[in-house]
Amino acid sequence: MYEGAVQELIDELGRLPGVGPKSAQRIAFHILESDPDDMKKLATAIVTVKERVKFCTVCGNVTEQETCSICRDPRRDPTMICVVEESKDVIAVERTRSFRGRYHVLGGAINPIAGIGPDQLRIRELLSRLSDEQISEIIIATDPNLEGEATATYLVRMLKTLGIKVTRLASGLPVGGDLEYADEITLGRAFEGRRSMS
Ligand SMILES: [Zn+2]
Repeated sequence: MYEGAVQELIDELGRLPGVGPKSAQRIAFHILESDPDDMKKLATAIVTVKERVKFCTVCGNVTEQETCSICRDPRRDPTMICVVEESKDVIAVERTRSFRGRYHVLGGAINPIAGIGPDQLRIRELLSRLSDEQISEIIIATDPNLEGEATATYLVRMLKTLGIKVTRLASGLPVGGDLEYADEITLGRAFEGRRSMS
């Protein structure tokens, strides 16, 4: 245990995803030894992102306005919705340039061990979009891992009853992985080859 502020910083850093106790200690000492102005910039960036960035009221993507730039773009096809887990997956799909519709960001995936069920995700918001907007196809692009599969299965079962065309990204994505790690070509192909679930 270090004294006061150093330990406090290590504890806070250690709560971030993917940062273990050793990394937290290394980052804390890096901060301690860095130029004060640089570290002030980092601290300001954290405060600013929390103050300024919110979630799009339509799709749940990150934005600094009421709605995100994709929902505001009139050139996007409003009849297609691509359902993803996180905002970073929107970026991954956008990179492929295979999709010109809009998104719905769930805010995670079903994970019973972590206590995340359908109610913790933005599924209710998706349903209300389906009743308000004219949607012709829903593409499910959850991660190709256990949680992503469980979420996809749940969504397919639920959406089938509504008579909307539901498709799922084609296989070929690295199983067990994260959508954001798939390269553009693989992800683009998975998009083109999406299969119907309804
Ligand atoms: Zn949006």
